[in-house]
Amino acid sequence: MTTLSTRTYVKGLAKGKALFLKKGCGHSHEAPQGSPEEEMERLGKAFDRVRNDIGEAAAKAGESLREILSAHLEMLEDPMLHDGIQDKILSGGLSAPQAVKEACEELQAMFDAIDDEYLRARKDDVRDICGQLLSALTEKAGIGPSPIPQGSVLVAEEILPSDAGKVDFNRLGAIVTRLGSITSHAAIIARSYGIPVLMGIPVERINDGDLLLVNALDGTLTVNPDEKTEAEFDKLLAKEMARGAEASSQAFKTAVTRDGKTIMVYANAGSIGDVRKAIEGGADGIGLFRSEFLFMQDESLPSEEKQYEAYRDAVLICNGKPVTIRTLDIGGDKALPCLGLPREENPFLGFRAIRISLARPEIFKPQVRAILRASAHGPVRILLPMITTLDEIRHARSIISQCMNELDRENIAYDKAIPVGIMVETPAAVLMADEFSKEADFFSLGTNDLTQYILAADRGNNAISELYDHMNPAVLRAVSITAKAARESGIPVCVCGEMAADEQAVKPLLESGVDSLSVPAPVIAKTKIIISE
Ligand code: PEP
Ligand code: MG
Repeated sequence: MTTLSTRTYVKGLAKGKALFLKKGCGHSHEAPQGSPEEEMERLGKAFDRVRNDIGEAAAKAGESLREILSAHLEMLEDPMLHDGIQDKILSGGLSAPQAVKEACEELQAMFDAIDDEYLRARKDDVRDICGQLLSALTEKAGIGPSPIPQGSVLVAEEILPSDAGKVDFNRLGAIVTRLGSITSHAAIIARSYGIPVLMGIPVERINDGDLLLVNALDGTLTVNPDEKTEAEFDKLLAKEMARGAEASSQAFKTAVTRDGKTIMVYANAGSIGDVRKAIEGGADGIGLFRSEFLFMQDESLPSEEKQYEAYRDAVLICNGKPVTIRTLDIGGDKALPCLGLPREENPFLGFRAIRISLARPEIFKPQVRAILRASAHGPVRILLPMITTLDEIRHARSIISQCMNELDRENIAYDKAIPVGIMVETPAAVLMADEFSKEADFFSLGTNDLTQYILAADRGNNAISELYDHMNPAVLRAVSITAKAARESGIPVCVCGEMAADEQAVKPLLESGVDSLSVPAPVIAKTKIIISE
């Protein structure tokens, strides 16, 4: 028996067998898995696989596609590409995926500099090939048997948001990782399923099939427990289940504070399944629909129609309760490969969220039109992420108006008074909250990002998890400043970051003047109880 402990966890208890997600796969920033020679071997296999895939596709393709594919095959054999990657592995000590990524970026930059339109356009072919090589190199090695045995504890170096689609969270009892933090998006997804998570665990001390006792109430993990420890844990599990059942009976009541103030408890959702779970779990509506997960499901962008159907379904499931749909919040730790965005040194400070939407109206407009069309079916609010300047909300509003005009011309129904609010998740939005409160119809405090930006502490970095603390007085002060500005302008203010689900934070948030909370579905009942105490 071994007991391991950590400070980073998403609360809960679970007992189950370890199921390993293969280490070291998944993204291009990974460290080498072996010696440079082994990385070269990995690379060789990836080239073979891509060569094969292109060959097979070309055999089935029509004439014009076949031409493009044979150009891709030629490019795949280009010595400049091979030498560039090889050099980065053998002399630079990079992993194969990282070498591919860097060599491709250099090659693309070269094509960019060429004063010939045709050759410049070949840059897209390079990007395409590099994408295929990267997929072949980083594709997940699978997570074992399918379906996953019910109640398994998934063990991994790290779970990325893009894993969400590959793992059936419904079958997991818990998640244990070495990397990540409680506000990384994988943890947020796990919490929406009510799954306990332990992060910061030395996973090399666990083997596939080990029996694990996951105690994410005190942050400990017991590997292969002795009989006595297991029996004690079983008692704890039974007690926790009884407590959960008691809380559920409160879920459908409206939460009212002791001094008589009604507090709406909304839910955060990333999918239609989440919306259904939230409403069945007593949510007063959806306070944050993270639309980016809809975008991350496919390899191409979802059409206006596909988005409309999803948003409309959410509205119909909510049956008169409000749905707050946040526009695309991609970037940071949420990648969207089909956008083909270049790698950034500081992705959380980079081209993300509203910055992308405003720069790419061909992505933003279909989304806005889809949200507007869904508003014909019930109460919807539009939420803009990562707002830092007044110009951004003005620009977004002008695009929303353009979409409204288009829908008017097309005789398509929508709510003409649809509220447009902003995420307050940057220090700039807090400091200018009085000005923003005159232009936004509501505020939603995104304390996950706000905490990292105020404390200059990466939300996904376990090494500084002690510093990343939403109860830090600086964060609490930011909440108060925002709530005060909202109150003075008469607009509502919600908290939709994970802080709203922290039992210790609920009362301080309400004392600051926050008037609603948005939490993961599994903690709705508990949050309502705390509010009423
Ligand atoms: C936040 O930053 O608090 C938030 C709710 O947005 P996300 O976690 O999706 O970045
Ligand atoms: Mg955020």
